[in-house]
Amino acid sequence: MQQTDVLSGELGLGPGNKAFKLWLPRLVVFTADAFEEPYAQKILERVKLYGLKYEVSRRVTGLKGASEKETYQNAKSTLAIVKAPPSAFSLRPIPPSADWQFHLAEGCPAHCQYCYLAGSLTGPPAIRVFANLPAILENLVKYTSRSQFVTFEASCYTDPLSLEHLTGGLQETINFFSRLQNTQLRFVTKFDAVAPLLDLEHHNNTRCRISLNAHSIGRKLESGTPAVSARIRALRSLALPKSVGGGGYPVGVVLAPIMPIPNWEQEYGRLLDELSNELDFPCDLTFELITHRFTPGSKDILLKWYPGTTLEMDEQVRIVKRNKFGGIKYVYPKLMMNELKTFFYREISARFPSAKILYWT
Ligand code: SF4
Repeated sequence: MQQTDVLSGELGLGPGNKAFKLWLPRLVVFTADAFEEPYAQKILERVKLYGLKYEVSRRVTGLKGASEKETYQNAKSTLAIVKAPPSAFSLRPIPPSADWQFHLAEGCPAHCQYCYLAGSLTGPPAIRVFANLPAILENLVKYTSRSQFVTFEASCYTDPLSLEHLTGGLQETINFFSRLQNTQLRFVTKFDAVAPLLDLEHHNNTRCRISLNAHSIGRKLESGTPAVSARIRALRSLALPKSVGGGGYPVGVVLAPIMPIPNWEQEYGRLLDELSNELDFPCDLTFELITHRFTPGSKDILLKWYPGTTLEMDEQVRIVKRNKFGGIKYVYPKLMMNELKTFFYREISARFPSAKILYWT
């Protein structure tokens, strides 16, 4: 493997557009059992090319700091290469996004103040990549069907593109799905280093989705991620036909988390205008629309991770929604939800008449 192959993800996406700096951990820890895996050895090659400090250890330790802040910082600057536990081989459904979820990794180097992982993953938010990825992928075949189209979501617990320069895992996964029938891999990212994905022969079996939001939300609440405009340009590269140097992928936009911030109609209208300017060619495009919500547990964790956050998590201005297990989450009141939904359906249909809106939640 040449250094240029690995570093090609750092390429900017156009003249004058400064490339977003790829995340590099302070320390990479391989657990001893993971280190034996051939995929871990491929990761090791990349780790060495970037000159990163690494160690092989029986367990991942040393994340706990003297304060909550220090623990968070230690965790977010450590990349652990571990073996996924046996439970990773019994897949769980993930409606409405896909039929099944599976995981290349857990954790993410970004710092979104509403992070979906708060409350889903336990312990310090370290980034764990699964060294037994080939076995994880082979296991998916059991869940495919000759007669039915089956979808698999790979980004429930991580942003896979954020780690791609260090792992190559998304490329492995896209290549794997390209050989399957009647299936679709789905992943979503806020990152823009899509260059390594563009040359893959994916056979339209992967839908690449980019997570977008109003510019002011991107700036204030999504630290450690590329600017919203850079993500839109990345989406353009993924969607452009291969004949003009693009990836030729089916693509999607995940608008999330939608928030009724001051001037939200103008802000989101501007975002949709920018998107329609960049996607000025026919492409297979879907939208997923997700409003902001929080649970008592996620609020607690987020306030520990981001004590100075300006994110609105005020139970008084929300209504409670219960799930079938009795768990609660706080969502926007019905009137507001209707107003937002009407706006997005109308404005998306006006700009992207052939795009499909998959769901609103
Ligand atoms: S990109 Fe996603 S997973 Fe990563 S910090 Fe932001 S919300 Fe959390």
